[in-house]
Parts: sequence; structure tokens; C-alpha cells
Amino acid sequence: MNARDNCIFCKIVRGTIPAHKVCEDEHTLAFMDVSPASPGHTLVISKAHAANLLEIAEADLLAVARTTQRVARAIHKALAPDGLRIGQFNGAAAGQTVLHYHVHIVPMQEGQRTGAHGRTPGDPEELKALASRIREVLQD
Ligand code: AMP
Ligand code: ZN
Repeated sequence: MNARDNCIFCKIVRGTIPAHKVCEDEHTLAFMDVSPASPGHTLVISKAHAANLLEIAEADLLAVARTTQRVARAIHKALAPDGLRIGQFNGAAAGQTVLHYHVHIVPMQEGQRTGAHGRTPGDPEELKALASRIREVLQD
């Protein structure tokens, strides 16, 4: 058994567990964080399994960066946040809980304190609606 077999994000890539997908290309996938720090919190992952920044292949890293910018622009247009926080954690000691490389895109409002990510499950209907609003912009 290798790291991919039990990896929750690899399962999303394989389609064996569901996600509110925002966009997908050959190398990357973006979907709503199931326990968002703020409404619209989206994750961008490489389809190829790599635990973190130290392990990911350069081509996959660049592909994730491209998708992150594309999705960040779409969130900016769809949800009009005052700002966008982009974050990425490497290793459990740094707060990484899913050991598959991913970038957080967290919309921020002026004066808003974000909640901790990964703590409180979002409302599935709201996650679905937010994914759909972001997808609409991407399809324009
Ligand atoms: P971290 O590893 O700390 O950078 O964060 C992992 C993030 O993945 C957390 O914000 C979780 O809410 C999120 N997460 C965990 N499982 C899923 C899932 N099945 N679908 C969407 N997001 C998830
Ligand atoms: Zn994985």
C-alpha cells in the first residue's frame, strides 16, 4: 500500500469520494474546502500525489500556481471579497493535516477574523452554491 491509497485528496481525484469541484485540468483540481475558514474557501491541489512543497515536482507546482491565480481571480469576481489570503502548510508541525500538496484560497472581508480552517463543517448547500458561482465566472 502506498501513500495514495489512503490519501483523501487522491480519492477526490479518483472520484471515489465527492467534492464540490470548481475546476479541473490535466494536472490540477480545485474544490471547496469542506470545513471552510470563510465562505468561498477553496483548495487547489495537484492531481499527482506529493506530500508537500518539498516533494512536489516543479511542473506540478507551476500548474497549481497557474490554477491558483485563475481560481483566485474567479473568486474575486464572483464573491467580491476585500482580499484573498493564499496559504500552504508543510508538515504536521506547521499545521498540515492532509499530506497531499494543496493551496488554500481564503476570501477575506475588511475587519473579518477568519476562523481556523478544517474545524467546522460548512453547510453542504452553501458549499454547492458557492462552487457554482465560482464555476460560472470561470465558464464566462
Ligand atoms: P491543511 O492540511 O491544514 O492545510 O488543511 C487541510 C484542509 O483540507 C482543511 O481545511 C480541511 O477542511 C480540508 N479537507 C479535509 N478533507 C476534505 C474533503 N474531503 N473535502 C474538502 N476539503 C477537505
Ligand atoms: Zn494524495
